Amino acid sequence: MYGKGAVESRFSTFLKFLEKNRKKLATSIKCLYICNDFRNEMQNKAKKIETVVSRADLKDELIRAGIRPSVQRLAIFEYVRNSCQHPTAEVVYEALRDELGSLSLTTVYNTLKLFVDAGLVLMLTIDDTFRCFDGDCSSHAHFRCNSCGKIIDLKIKKEFLSLVEGAENLEVTDAQLYLKGICPDCKKK
Ligand SMILES: [Zn+2]
Ligand SMILES: [Zn+2]
Repeated sequence: MYGKGAVESRFSTFLKFLEKNRKKLATSIKCLYICNDFRNEMQNKAKKIETVVSRADLKDELIRAGIRPSVQRLAIFEYVRNSCQHPTAEVVYEALRDELGSLSLTTVYNTLKLFVDAGLVLMLTIDDTFRCFDGDCSSHAHFRCNSCGKIIDLKIKKEFLSLVEGAENLEVTDAQLYLKGICPDCKKK
């Protein structure tokens, strides 16, 4: 092993290296952040690919729910079900208006409401000025960033109900948990 003198001299060499390469290191740290962002984006894309449901399966789902699968309804259902972004009615309208020429924002909104009433889609009302839709009806929590407005899905462990006082006497069939704050990306800025 190295003696004390050798360690000190290596340490001071290392400090000199840090000082000399400060700019380069700052760039590397920035690269690291970019890599992290890229990785998050890729993970989101991977999640999206995993959860893509075919149009034929979606059509069956609508029929089973007693909804006539018109071309417009099917396209709207496909968009919401396969999106991880919790789109608003406006976002769905913008995305599909070119594909479906005769589409109106009101039709999109009414169709989404129809899906919500049939239990096929969730409507998130995180606050009264903002409504968005979620094609994933499984129990999960939502975090909304106060700065960029992004909504992040979070898993809820079943045991969370044991933390709610009085819930033991209730038959809970649905639970919505909204969290608000600052997301990691905005915190970095
Ligand atoms: Zn944010
Ligand atoms: Zn969600």
